[in-house]
Amino acid sequence: MSVKVFLNEDEIPRQWYNLAPDLPSPLQPPLSPADGSVVPPEGWAKIFPMNLVEQEYSKERWIDIPDEVLQMLYRWRPSPLKRAVYLEKALDTPAKIYYKDEGVSPPGSHKPNTAVTQAWYNKQFGTKVLTTETGAGQWGSALSFACSLLGLECKVFMVRISFEQKPFRKIMMQTWGANCVASPSTETNSGRSFMEKYPDTPGSLGMAISEAIEAAVADESGQTKYSIGSCLNHVLLHQTIIGLEAKKQLEKIGIKKPDIVIGCAGGGSNFAGLAFPFVYDKINGADIEIIPVEPASCPTMTRGMFAYDFGDTACTTPLAPMHTLGHSFVPPPIHAGGLRYHGMAPLVSQSIVEGLLTPRNVHQLECYASAIQFARTEGIITAPETSHAIAAVIQEARKAKEEGKEKVILFNMSGHGLMDLNGYLQYFEGKLQDYAHPQEEIDRAEAELADYPKPSMDKTGKW
Ligand SMILES: *Cc1c(COP(=O)(O)O)cnc(C)c1O
Repeated sequence: MSVKVFLNEDEIPRQWYNLAPDLPSPLQPPLSPADGSVVPPEGWAKIFPMNLVEQEYSKERWIDIPDEVLQMLYRWRPSPLKRAVYLEKALDTPAKIYYKDEGVSPPGSHKPNTAVTQAWYNKQFGTKVLTTETGAGQWGSALSFACSLLGLECKVFMVRISFEQKPFRKIMMQTWGANCVASPSTETNSGRSFMEKYPDTPGSLGMAISEAIEAAVADESGQTKYSIGSCLNHVLLHQTIIGLEAKKQLEKIGIKKPDIVIGCAGGGSNFAGLAFPFVYDKINGADIEIIPVEPASCPTMTRGMFAYDFGDTACTTPLAPMHTLGHSFVPPPIHAGGLRYHGMAPLVSQSIVEGLLTPRNVHQLECYASAIQFARTEGIITAPETSHAIAAVIQEARKAKEEGKEKVILFNMSGHGLMDLNGYLQYFEGKLQDYAHPQEEIDRAEAELADYPKPSMDKTGKW
């Protein structure tokens, strides 16, 4: 029995999979907050290079991965598919648990898959500087790494609480040559205004996005662009290499399809990267349960609204149709920094509306307990974000045992947690707690969005 399945470099997928043309109820367009009109591709030109905007709007099912991008991905891809035999044993479950190990990339998560790709397209376009935000520091370090490979300058606005809790990510960014500051910062108008309004704020991804966009747009030469680590269609597209590899790997060991696919979801990119190629199979008749998992303290998919909302707190982005807790939501300081975001990728959200996905939320303490069980069986210490996927995997493996079913569970091990050990320490010291998301917050978000356009809730009703 193999516990690791590898692909040769020449077996790497050569195209990304785009779910947009296959969605049974179509993806709804971004809208301008000024007048509710549809934002055309040119509407993004100040923020993103047009070659990436083209991907953002693409309705092609398959998009070629440029050779030079593959050359960069070869540094760590294809990533191994592993079987969690020791966890299976500990749980005494008949389920077979497989996972993609995305922790093998140099920065330690799935994020470099899109970071090197975006940096490459930017370089082609003539960009010299990339700005971005980062939560836990994973995205900031991934983009710093990518910029160092391509000789681009990189400026990172890091959510203040993570900046303080995770000093090592900062040092990684510095090692790769980037400039990282705590957000809100005094470097932008939006940053200064957040600090005035909320002097003790731990910061949020929404605030940091506002600052990073402002810093990009402020360069009138057009040589500074903004780069985003999740949520948007082109980012999810770049991550589909994970699921496409997984399919080939499962095939190699004679598994036709997984019964359950699981990923944690902050903005939705690692989940979508693994899951969308299987969503395609589900649309075409396969029986697969597909579960994005989020924190109970930031329950975007399970308790948020499907609404048109801003991607950032300062309301500078176009309105996107997504599950959201409202753009002014400030999440409690849980350790899974990458999951503390008010919105969800429109492609994931529309798939939820259609009934193709069954989102779930879990509390922080259960996540840490699950991650520790994983570490003590499989050996890998996972990121606190990833622990949400593991908690759901363990729930499903237990259910398979109760039902006496030999299910195949596939999940995304989105990253290792070696830079997140402070969270583990606080868990061991009994300092962590669970946070419920209060109903008043949901009501407040509904009021906040009452006057914006509403997306269609139409679905085919097939799932
Ligand atoms: C950023 C991050 C996530 C959450 O982001 P998504 O876009 O939802 O994937 C999950 N896991 C790890 C390890 C991360 O770094």
